[in-house]
Amino acid sequence: MKYFFNGNFSAINKLEFKTSQEEDLQTICKFLKENYLNYKNIKFYIFDNLEKKQSRDPNHSISKASARFEPFAIYRFWNPLDNDKKISDSHFPHELIHLIAHKFTKPYTWEVQLDIVTGGKIIKKLEMQSTSFMQEGLAIAVEDIVFGLKLREHEEEKTIDEWCKNQQYANNILEQSINFDGFCNFDNDYIVPFTASFSKFLILNFGIEKYKTMYVSIREDKTPKDNIKIIEDIFHFSQSELINQWSNNL
Ligand SMILES: [Zn+2]
Repeated sequence: MKYFFNGNFSAINKLEFKTSQEEDLQTICKFLKENYLNYKNIKFYIFDNLEKKQSRDPNHSISKASARFEPFAIYRFWNPLDNDKKISDSHFPHELIHLIAHKFTKPYTWEVQLDIVTGGKIIKKLEMQSTSFMQEGLAIAVEDIVFGLKLREHEEEKTIDEWCKNQQYANNILEQSINFDGFCNFDNDYIVPFTASFSKFLILNFGIEKYKTMYVSIREDKTPKDNIKIIEDIFHFSQSELINQWSNNL
């Protein structure tokens, strides 16, 4: 992987950062049964301040870290001296998982409206894999299973399963959220733990290979109904059976 540091980083900081990413890449690839040599062209742009990260990120997203499939890079705000562990920790496997999953199969092209930092919207043609719902679910599920990380929403930190235990989910919640519009219709602290916990359930009960087959078969340019049909055919259970099994497993 290639690293471009922008700002005030010592040689020790840089080495720590690079070592962490190389370790995380190998750990994630092992779990996802992918060859880590296929990801040598990932680029990291590291900034010591959040505004610089936002302006260099091609989509100008406000978050601390973003994965961009085109040009296959991660833009990351990292301050090794900050007291907040989320900012000072050199490990941050989430975006790496997104990039690795993006190479599961040949991506398709999808047109979407995106919010930008100044408050407006832009239309982008994105290279896509799976749906936004499942991309997010996989990344956070792997963070939970492999790295033991908790999920933080509104300054509160809990495991994804703990988040879900306190919520009610309809037995067609999957159909309501599987595509981008549905996914965006729900609050993050409700739908993000669900997609992550449900992905975790599928991976641990049916295996990563079957999960990956499902992951690359569903698409944003298919209807929610068609995507659900694909999931039901691959796992040999109906949507409501899967939701029941998941919820009884929590
Ligand atoms: Zn994500």
